[in-house]
Amino acid sequence: MRSSEIVFAVGCSVLAFGCAAAPDETEEIIDNLVHAGFPRNDIMVVDGKVYVGRDAEVSLTASREMIQTVGPGQEQYRTTNLISASLSKICINGSTFTGVFSQALDLAIQNYDEQPLTFAMARTPSSGCSFTINAVLAPGVVGGSSGFPSGGLPFGTINIGDGLAPFSVDTVEHVITHEIGHTIGFRHSDYFNRSISCGGAAVNEGDAGVGAILIPGTPSGAVVGGSIMNSCFRTVETGEFTGSDVTALRALYGVAPAPAIDAAVAFQANTGILWVVGPAGPGATGLGMAAGTSPSIARLAGGGFQAAFQANTGHLWVTGSAGTGDTGLGMAAGTSPSITALSGGGYQVAFQANTTHLWVTGSAGTGDTGLGMAANTSPSITALGGSYQVAFQANTTHLWVTGAAGTADTGLGMAANTSPSISQLVTGGYQVAFQANTAHLWVTGSAGTADTGLGMAANTSPSITGLATGGYQAAFQANTTHLWVTGSAGTADTGLGMRSGTSPSIRARAGGSYNLVFQANTGNLWTAGATGTGDLGLGMASGTSPATN
Ligand SMILES: [Zn+2]
Repeated sequence: MRSSEIVFAVGCSVLAFGCAAAPDETEEIIDNLVHAGFPRNDIMVVDGKVYVGRDAEVSLTASREMIQTVGPGQEQYRTTNLISASLSKICINGSTFTGVFSQALDLAIQNYDEQPLTFAMARTPSSGCSFTINAVLAPGVVGGSSGFPSGGLPFGTINIGDGLAPFSVDTVEHVITHEIGHTIGFRHSDYFNRSISCGGAAVNEGDAGVGAILIPGTPSGAVVGGSIMNSCFRTVETGEFTGSDVTALRALYGVAPAPAIDAAVAFQANTGILWVVGPAGPGATGLGMAAGTSPSIARLAGGGFQAAFQANTGHLWVTGSAGTGDTGLGMAAGTSPSITALSGGGYQVAFQANTTHLWVTGSAGTGDTGLGMAANTSPSITALGGSYQVAFQANTTHLWVTGAAGTADTGLGMAANTSPSISQLVTGGYQVAFQANTAHLWVTGSAGTADTGLGMAANTSPSITGLATGGYQAAFQANTTHLWVTGSAGTADTGLGMRSGTSPSIRARAGGSYNLVFQANTGNLWTAGATGTGDLGLGMASGTSPATN
């Protein structure tokens, strides 16, 4: 047996909310729906209320939102309107529900609440409700009705027919879960041919690419029992989401679990404090950093990590497994140090001193190299053999290198306010990535010199790492503000947006894979790569970049 959720017969007197839409409002709603692609014969007016798809009430506001121009469809099927991510808890008031209706309401709420979504769902009374939907029993109806979101809020009412009383709890759970689905923007999975679930003649609820957007990852077709959002239901429904229902729900409202990070990450938090997170990270170190500067972190040969940073005193500080201390060395304003672990133990730091000279300090000794650096730039250091090599932008704007492998002017011009990145290669030698004065990403070193042809965002710097299997991979902020990667492991636009003026950090892992950290365009620290992509939920200081190693 199939029961339709048609509501033609529902009269004004049995709907427990106002139904006196002014005639001109009704006409505007209908006009908007037609404009949004709903066929006229699928729009019903019952006692002044306008319904589409036979069970979804449309308010004037929602109909107006449906005809707003939307971008390319990225968003089973949904309406143009969705609920706001700022709603953390949706509550449902089913105080008049008893017996099978009350049990089914609890189960329907559980269906949503047990998914990892941007909102929790609970039955009233409950504290902290961002919005409350009223669940109303509709006398004489075998089915249900509700409406679509508007203004970022769910539709405020679900009507559940009391004619469902003889049905199983699972069937009623199905109907309630379905109607809640409409309130947060789900359309019928078989909207294009209701006969798939309802039988009878084929009826298309209409789409026009505006009001029925296929949700990525869900099937475009529909089958009986394939979705809780099918137009009509059977007596044998389980009341549970199908696999594609869950995919659809997570695509619209899912929360990605925080990815595991298997390396230490250092960054300047939005409090101005140095944080170190990851397996060995203490979180907040309590150490204040200079505004607009970024830390650097190294894995020490004997285990543990060491970070270097410009403190809010302008001095170079170090902290980590090898101890915390003020080096007493003054740094140029707005610049950041770079640290590397030495193969024989200990570490070495390179930085731009307040004399604008490149300095080094650490286990391999402290000294002024006498080499002048460009303003607002920072050096990069890598272990090389038992020693180290440094790359930096000289005061001539040329890329220079200095260290165990020799000192040289590469003759390559760099973009203002950008810094190179250097990494040793497992096959020997080192490779440098930098933003050229053409705004293109260039690489140079033992693996060859090349213009990658890839455009970078102004005032940003690339990061490079030698892969465990040979070759190298670089990460950078493209001129689209997206995080890109390029190198031996392939070139790709990750599609992840970065905060302007910030740079990513890339770290090779065993087996040839790599991880990335960066400041997303939300200002939060994000990770991407082999251990997963996601928001670590930690706010970063503006204009600063994280480091991992
Ligand atoms: Zn429906």
